[in-house]
Amino acid sequence: MGRLDSLLRVELDNLEKENLVWKRRVLETPSVPRAIVDGKEVLMLCSNNYLGLTNHPKLKRKAIETIEKFGVGSGSVRIIAGNMSLHERLDAKIAEYKRTESAIHFPTGFAANAGSIPQLAGKGDVIISDELNHGSIIDGVRLSRADKRVFRHADEDDLAKVMEEVESKGFERRLIITDGVFSMDGDIAPLPGIVKQAEKYGGAIYVDDAHGEGVLGENGRGITSHFNLEGKIEVEMGTFSKAFGNIGGFVAGSRSLTDYIFNKARSHLLSSSMPPATTASCIAALEVVEEEPEIIQTLWRNSKHFKEGLKESGFDIGRSVTPITPVMLGESPLAQRFSSELVERGIFALPIVYPIVAKDKARIRTIVSAAHTAEDLGFALRAFEEIGQNLKVLS
Ligand code: PMP
Repeated sequence: MGRLDSLLRVELDNLEKENLVWKRRVLETPSVPRAIVDGKEVLMLCSNNYLGLTNHPKLKRKAIETIEKFGVGSGSVRIIAGNMSLHERLDAKIAEYKRTESAIHFPTGFAANAGSIPQLAGKGDVIISDELNHGSIIDGVRLSRADKRVFRHADEDDLAKVMEEVESKGFERRLIITDGVFSMDGDIAPLPGIVKQAEKYGGAIYVDDAHGEGVLGENGRGITSHFNLEGKIEVEMGTFSKAFGNIGGFVAGSRSLTDYIFNKARSHLLSSSMPPATTASCIAALEVVEEEPEIIQTLWRNSKHFKEGLKESGFDIGRSVTPITPVMLGESPLAQRFSSELVERGIFALPIVYPIVAKDKARIRTIVSAAHTAEDLGFALRAFEEIGQNLKVLS
């Protein structure tokens, strides 16, 4: 065994002791409400497949047809030989959907954040970030070499204080970055207040709406549409990996923004373009959302029903207002025990524990989808209530 290998073994043993090693769970079906995980049929209650598009016939048909026509790989990065007509069409389709002047896609949402943020602020600039922003934003900020300030989660007053403090420091650019929907709590950024502060102190806003695209706003156009703030957000970032049932990320905004990112973002310049089949099924996903807007209504109806059921049983669902619904339990061992009992009863929903969330804020994080039936949700609610009573979470 080499030296690096033995060092890594020691580190892994430490992670194991701290309970920080992820167990690999294996799906043997598509990500659908009744899936097979680790050989057992379960009700899927923790996938980001909000609209049930991972297995949608139109998306699958487009992907298959596209493989026949364009092959499986693009062969290159976009700036050399990998820019297919499909990639151009996807950018145009995103801009049309988002009603922005322009858009640019990336192979993943992570690549969109980690590649774009460092190009929008650098030395001499400041990035002002919500304390609960996603890790891909945090990594983008680290790569940027800009100064960083953090404001308290979703707290407009604290943001105002930070803006006031940075005003006196003479930074050239001020970029405020926030998640649209926060993925561990299911709450929404106070975007109107953020716009107010950005306008007052002079700053641009970057919103990562990974969990809002396809979910919030008119036809799922995201948090900007939800708050009627079109034109006020300079950088709208989203993903195809959640409600759109695929993989891929994007940035939508002005033509200058996307042309600049096209020419500068390293995760775009130096990483091969999206496979043709995925590109075509991302376009199809946006078409489906426009053609079948009722799936978004079904998602919200299911989400409301599930939330009400949990609340009626007496569970604390924190500050969630979206289909991401945490069931707050407190200490990690309780959340772990709760999740094992759920799996035992055929429900797949995982515990979120320290260090992802604070030590006393362990929870089961659930996500219902438009594809769940009333029977699925009834089955899950009954199991939650019974386990809650057995484990004395409910009185
Ligand atoms: N931003 C947020 C808020 C996310 O939740 C995620 C996915 N976990 C990403 C970015 C990264 O997206 P992707 O999975 O497409 O890389």
